[in-house]
Amino acid sequence: MFMVLLGPPGAGKGTQAKKIEEQYNIPQISTGDIIRLAIQSKSEWGKKAEEYVRSGELVPDEVVIGIIQERLTQNTYRNGFMLDGFPRNLEQAEALSQLLKEIGIQLNLVLYFDVDREEVIERLSARRICEKCQTPYNMVSKPPKNDKICDICQGRVIQRPDDRPEVIMNRLNTYEQQTKPLVDYYRSQGILKIVVSKGSIDDVFQQVQKVLGTISV
Ligand code: AMP
Repeated sequence: MFMVLLGPPGAGKGTQAKKIEEQYNIPQISTGDIIRLAIQSKSEWGKKAEEYVRSGELVPDEVVIGIIQERLTQNTYRNGFMLDGFPRNLEQAEALSQLLKEIGIQLNLVLYFDVDREEVIERLSARRICEKCQTPYNMVSKPPKNDKICDICQGRVIQRPDDRPEVIMNRLNTYEQQTKPLVDYYRSQGILKIVVSKGSIDDVFQQVQKVLGTISV
């Protein structure tokens, strides 16, 4: 299944992506994770991306489109893939459509995680992440078993610099202005399905499973 996960920051895309990956064996491709690892490794383009990420702005289209192009053309995704955090504006969506056409893949599903703004702010403030494997945690609902140590890889669990309160608002505005229009864009293509991201991780995953059960590929 070839799918896109859409929704504001803090909607639970990354968390649900890990569960989908585990249960359905569909690999997650997260532009946010790729960018963060590039920043950490101090690669040339990582250094350039850092100022955008830190201020809650989108990294320039040519950079992220390049990342996705490289991923999708250099690997064969027999069991499909899950794009998490891409596309984030109409230009990226058009570029994706063109790229998929070129490699002969049809998008089956866009899963839109619908969530209240207040809930998002709460979740982002409590969010932590493993700096090594990028596994997401939440200090209220899903803390690491050992304080500040990742359950999976024993990496350091930290707060993302862009989850600080002063950056959160900027990210939400960026989302409203640039990414939200993609909901209608994909709705008009007839491939959008909505999941209400409320309740526990498992409550949301149940909805995800229901939707995935309705998609024939
Ligand atoms: P995320 O982990 O998806 O919340 O992404 C973290 C940050 O990485 C975003 O706030 C952007 O600065 C950058 N980023 C991730 N994906 C994209 C994208 N598709 N286009 C532009 N910037 C992105």
